[in-house]
Amino acid sequence: MLSVHDLQVRYGRSVAALHGVDLDVSPDGVLAVLGSNGAGKSTLLRAISGTLRMHRGSIAGGEVRYEDKPLNQLDPARIVRLGVVGVPEGRQVFARMTVEENLRAGGIGSRSPEGRAAARRRVDELFPVLAERAKQRAGLLSGGEQQMLAIGRALMSGPRLLLLDEPSLGLAPKVVEQIGGVVREIHAQGTAVVLVEQNAVMALRVAEHAIVLEVGKVALAGTTAELAASEDVQRLYLGGHAESQATAEAEAETARTRSIGRRLSRWAG
Ligand code: ATP
Repeated sequence: MLSVHDLQVRYGRSVAALHGVDLDVSPDGVLAVLGSNGAGKSTLLRAISGTLRMHRGSIAGGEVRYEDKPLNQLDPARIVRLGVVGVPEGRQVFARMTVEENLRAGGIGSRSPEGRAAARRRVDELFPVLAERAKQRAGLLSGGEQQMLAIGRALMSGPRLLLLDEPSLGLAPKVVEQIGGVVREIHAQGTAVVLVEQNAVMALRVAEHAIVLEVGKVALAGTTAELAASEDVQRLYLGGHAESQATAEAEAETARTRSIGRRLSRWAG
């Protein structure tokens, strides 16, 4: 469905943000994109959604193809009409508009009233809380609800491929879990997803394939099971290092206690 080949992206003349990125997303797939700050995750989504120019960036080489059409030269509105819709980082909702108005704005580009009504039913089922708060101003929703509204608004245009940029950012663990469940459900309903995340635990649970970006390059790629088993991913993203350190400290503490116990019993007896 989506194929990115040897993608090079620059900001202005001096910043080379992506150097030869390759990836594929199948029509029924969820691809997680992991990586630390500044690795190029948002840049990758901007290149796919055609929004690089808004950030003074450009594709300097390589290709983004969606259903075998090159996207490189297309403007963002055309890319949305093809079915590729992004939810940018930072829960960007229209804060002064109501939930209802935000959702209606998301459906403006939809061609048929039936399509809009079906998309609305899907959003109401996925996010009952948005239906309950339809008349409330979006700026008054909680962080998690705003994230749900941002995703709901994107779903209103009936995407076939959804690009999510760090949907879990700044949310409590329980809400992150809910968002993960929603992404899984969206995928089960037949929408492919590219999920950029710093929360690797959630992303690897939800996706089937993943890549790890490091300084603008794909450092690791594979199934989520393969990546979750990788020592690098465990150490850098899953807290494996912290866990093994904690285990080592606990074992050392037990050994110290035993040794004191042995010395005390020798002294006593
Ligand atoms: P984060 O997790 O912090 O959002 P990221 O992995 O999404 O990071 P990007 O935001 O894609 O990383 O940034 C990749 C590189 O491009 C970084 O070196 C960043 O400083 C640079 N960059 C991003 N946006 C711009 C811009 N508008 N102008 C110049 N450089 C930029």
